[in-house]
Amino acid sequence: MNIILMGPPGAGKGTQADFIKAKYRVPHISTGDMFRDAVKKGTPMGQEAKKYMNEGKLVPDQVTIGIVEDRLAEDDCQAGFLLDGFPRTINQAEALDKVMDKLGKKIDAAINIFVPDKILIERMSGRVSCKECGTVYHLVFSPPSQSGKCDKCSGELIQRSDDNAETAVNRLQVYIEQTSPLLDYYKNKGLLKDVDGNRDSKSVGSEIESILNGL
Ligand code: ADP
Ligand code: AMP
Repeated sequence: MNIILMGPPGAGKGTQADFIKAKYRVPHISTGDMFRDAVKKGTPMGQEAKKYMNEGKLVPDQVTIGIVEDRLAEDDCQAGFLLDGFPRTINQAEALDKVMDKLGKKIDAAINIFVPDKILIERMSGRVSCKECGTVYHLVFSPPSQSGKCDKCSGELIQRSDDNAETAVNRLQVYIEQTSPLLDYYKNKGLLKDVDGNRDSKSVGSEIESILNGL
């Protein structure tokens, strides 16, 4: 099962990916997580990516395509994968098609979680995640039991530096301009599955589950 999880920033891709990877035993490949990890480690790629991430811009295609290509060639991706936050440009989608051809594989579905802009801003501005294990919470919609502490590992909860109001608005604009054309790209291939993300996470998850079970 080779799946792409699409949707604007804050739509709930990471939240749904947690349940999909556990249920269907596929690796969760989030380019955002890969870049944040590289920034944390201070690698040259992380230092380069940070400049774009801090402004809510996309990291250049040649960097992003390269890391995904390498990741998809790893052993754990051979029986399937879940891409989250990639592709984000037509160029990236075309590069992904070439990689899939080379690997003799195909994309089975592009699941598009759609949510109104106003809700996306609320979701991004209240998002916090565990510094240690990465579990994502929302200060209002899914708060931790103890303020500032992860329920799973007691790690410290932190806000992403790009979840401030100004950068969040930039990211939505970038999504509209550069990423939303991909919806037609996958619709034309008969792969697009729209899911209303403006509901509780369980209902969103159930719909995704029935889509995946029908593939
Ligand atoms: P994305 O990966 O698409 O950027 P996340 O999964 O990180 O989005 O979700 C963004 C924020 O919204 C997080 O704080 C998360 O807890 C919260 N969230 C996710 N799904 C829902 C939902 N269905 N209802 C309310 N809040 C949600
Ligand atoms: P995300 O965690 O998906 O919200 O991504 C956070 C940031 O990482 C984005 O705002 C971009 O700066 C960068 N990023 C993640 N995925 C991509 C991608 N496919 N192409 C370019 N930049 C990306």
